[in-house]
Amino acid sequence: MSNLVPPHGAGSLKPLLLPEAERAEALQRAGRLKQVPLSSREVSDLFMLGMGAYTPLDGFMGEADWRDCCEHMQLADGLFWPIPITLSCTQDLGDTIDIGEDVALVDGETGETLGILTVEEKYSIDREFECSHVFRTTDNAHPGVAKVMSQGPVNLGGPVRALSEGHFPETYAGLYFRPAETRAMFLEKGWSKVAAFQTRNPMHRSHEHLAKIAIEICDGLLIHQVLGALKPGDIPAEVRVAAIDALTKNYFVSGTVLQAGYPIEMRYAGPREALLHAVFRQNFGCSHLVVGRDHAGVGDYYGPYDAHHIFDTLPESSLKTQPLKIDITFYCHKCNGMATGKTCPHTAADRLAISGTRLREMFASGESIPPEFSRPEVVAVLREYYDDPGRQ
Ligand SMILES: [Zn+2]
Repeated sequence: MSNLVPPHGAGSLKPLLLPEAERAEALQRAGRLKQVPLSSREVSDLFMLGMGAYTPLDGFMGEADWRDCCEHMQLADGLFWPIPITLSCTQDLGDTIDIGEDVALVDGETGETLGILTVEEKYSIDREFECSHVFRTTDNAHPGVAKVMSQGPVNLGGPVRALSEGHFPETYAGLYFRPAETRAMFLEKGWSKVAAFQTRNPMHRSHEHLAKIAIEICDGLLIHQVLGALKPGDIPAEVRVAAIDALTKNYFVSGTVLQAGYPIEMRYAGPREALLHAVFRQNFGCSHLVVGRDHAGVGDYYGPYDAHHIFDTLPESSLKTQPLKIDITFYCHKCNGMATGKTCPHTAADRLAISGTRLREMFASGESIPPEFSRPEVVAVLREYYDDPGRQ
């Protein structure tokens, strides 16, 4: 009997990926349909729909869902949903598509056919309305805002059948797990309370401390990596995995941690995105989500604890997955150990802080990384990566 949290708003997961046996015929049919090119964000959302991470959505949102989602963080039927999941196209293409028509969804970069959408709605949106609600800003310098502002003027809504998961299952074999699979893994381990720890970085001691706080109060921890598009300076997933393996093997109790990755592209919507992260973690079977300082933020668009506070504003039935709100973590010389902003009474000068930029400089110049900042086993993996002359 499963004691895991149920999927969001549904009795069972709703992966939209067609069973493999039906895909070849559907792909053939898709070849004869009008082709709608998807942006990288839309592709990542289609993959999330395909794997069941966006249960119970059955495709890209229509206008009523879009509007309620922006304004009230819910779908038109009242179900909690914090960020619109939409698909756009150009005016010219939109004009040729009839309501009720099936169109092929293709990756705008690779041309691969990824799915079929039955167009139930065509509508145009007020992009500033969306951005001011979702991102709390309309500043084009915000990367999430810039994507919304540059999308096509026509939104297409309707149910989707996904036909591919792109390169993810192959590229990230052993890391790419669908919600049904993480749930099965948790059950096999006998876990009911599982915390998700979101990361797109290798884990240093501050992350280790966050992770261990979560393990203290849960049965286990899912270290859940973002596998979507990288930013310049990001460390590739396979290096992150090796670094995290080096950490967990040496410093965690065996059997308390699992690693997995998922194909989202970050929107950097700060507090709203923290809520989306909680929604799909519920689908992955996680009862808790570690929400640290400035979760999913970018620049200084959000206050450091906005992503904590937004959970307090929700009606109680919105989410089963609960936030583990944790303050900034660090090594403090006066505490003589790891601490958080909530437990350490000392000053910034007593706390060890190394920025990502500074850390890259230290690796580049061969400086030693203090063991209070990062475990030597983790440093060794990263040093090998930074020293590799073939590295891009
Ligand atoms: Zn201290």
